[in-house]
Amino acid sequence: MRKYLRDIEKVQFGHDSIYPVEDLGDAMLYTETRKMAIIEVLRCLPEEDYKKLSDKADLFEWFIPMWIEYGRIHPFPITPQSQERRYVKVLYLSPILEEKPIEISIAVVAHELAHIFKGHKTHCKHQWESDAQEAIAWDIVVNWGFKKELKVYEKERKKQEDEDEDFMKRFKKEPKE
Ligand SMILES: [Zn+2]
Repeated sequence: MRKYLRDIEKVQFGHDSIYPVEDLGDAMLYTETRKMAIIEVLRCLPEEDYKKLSDKADLFEWFIPMWIEYGRIHPFPITPQSQERRYVKVLYLSPILEEKPIEISIAVVAHELAHIFKGHKTHCKHQWESDAQEAIAWDIVVNWGFKKELKVYEKERKKQEDEDEDFMKRFKKEPKE
């Protein structure tokens, strides 16, 4: 059983909340799995890390599109802290997650929050730098207690990669002799 360090009320409406704010009306119907995953992750983070992440809440914006919408003008506010930067970080959660077990959403939410937590770069000059950031983020996911969810995620990714490979093979037909 997962260990909860804070209640739903606190993570959703607390003054130090990291939970997405523009969550009103029927949007919940189409973004439910991802929102539930966010709540799960936020309830379990160690106290010190939760506080540090709260301090960084205005350094990024959640982006949790509904699959039912074909297009949307989505506001990405530029916070005062980001004035010297040309962009604001956006934490994207794919609508495809709604069709997968919640463990996948939990692994993804924790992983992306780990990037925010560590202040990782969104653009790396070198591949090794990007790979190192990825490894660090996954280590944090495990440290935060989501090892089981990471296993489910890895299995799903492997399955997806195999499917992608089959898909690509159809385009790469051998030339006829
Ligand atoms: Zn990553």
